[in-house]
Amino acid sequence: MERLSVAPETLAAQGLGEADPTSGGLVPVITPATNYERRPDGSYPQDRVYTRADNPTYELAEGLLAALEGAAIEGGNCACALFASGMAAATAVFQSLLPGDHVLVSRILYWGVRKWLSEFALTWGLDVEFVDTTDLDALASAIRPGRTRLVWVETPANPMWDVTDLAAVGELAHAAGARVAVDNTVSTPVLTRPFEHGADLVMHSATKYLNGHSDVLAGAVLSARRDPFWERIRSWRRNAGAVPGPFEAWLLQRGMRTLFLRVHRASETALAIATHLAGHPALRDVLYPGLPSHPGHQIAARQMSGGFGGMLSIRMAGGPEHAAAVLRGVRVFKRATSLGGVESLIEHRGLTEGPSSPVPPDLLRLSIGIEAAADLIADLAAALAAAQPEALT
Ligand code: PLP
Repeated sequence: MERLSVAPETLAAQGLGEADPTSGGLVPVITPATNYERRPDGSYPQDRVYTRADNPTYELAEGLLAALEGAAIEGGNCACALFASGMAAATAVFQSLLPGDHVLVSRILYWGVRKWLSEFALTWGLDVEFVDTTDLDALASAIRPGRTRLVWVETPANPMWDVTDLAAVGELAHAAGARVAVDNTVSTPVLTRPFEHGADLVMHSATKYLNGHSDVLAGAVLSARRDPFWERIRSWRRNAGAVPGPFEAWLLQRGMRTLFLRVHRASETALAIATHLAGHPALRDVLYPGLPSHPGHQIAARQMSGGFGGMLSIRMAGGPEHAAAVLRGVRVFKRATSLGGVESLIEHRGLTEGPSSPVPPDLLRLSIGIEAAADLIADLAAALAAAQPEALT
């Protein structure tokens, strides 16, 4: 069907705007079938064989996400593949590389990816090196032309919210024949479209903002081109089988319909909270790319449009004890891990990540939801005051 040339918000709100071809319903159906019938001549009416490879309900979410990210779309086939989780999506990219390939990975990034790389990439034969991707000189000297196959970037990066210049990284990597993959979970295509900054691959934990309601575990990989590496990732999914259930895929396409509203609202509130807290006597630092004092602010202002995201961290001047006291004191924020849902969360990242975590022990990570900003600000103000009354008198 011909697609109207409309804004991404419109595509998202209408789920690409296509009614269900059988019923005419504006809400698509869920296809729970695991297998598809052959015609008497052995052919398949729609080329679908088995749900580990293809399912129309995955395709709804894949088509919408591909349109929002600007991934390759050729002849009705888009270069987007849903996975059972963000980790399944991320690891599919690494496992599509070959033993001996050199991989450069952002030093600050979601700890699950770092942990998986540390535990499994070596036995997989990958030569993984962590580098500060915000430092272009460091990145340039770490790249080994002809051997570095992938540069993996997360921006803004969990949980310090370091900002990497995607266009500059793309130039360095491409000059050396390496691909750039971007974990765009935190920024979402609402704020950053990494393909427009030269990325080759985009990965998401769709568990977060894309679904947005903390009730689906899913991931996605997208590609700028339907090239052999992309086919290898698709083949990995088909053969390894880390696919979501059709119900999860359906919930995901429903969640994405409100993506723009949720991300814009969370970004506005996060900026209001960061601005309110900056300079607070109980805090050593407020880490948020939207604050002009953030080291990555200039790049973020260029690379992100419409906001700086819903994630920020605060570092307590009084150390881990005061962080624990703030956690005890909040009444509106929910004490929980994860991010990108409609409810605001607060978490001591160091505790979650464990003793090997490089995250400062005085850091609390905040995922801002869509509640009234005033309630969230008042909640944090009260918890900070209770945690360190002497600093405020
Ligand atoms: N990437 C980022 C930035 C994340 O925050 C997460 C999860 O927190 C993941 C990847 C992994 O995603 P999942 O939990 O869906 O496997």
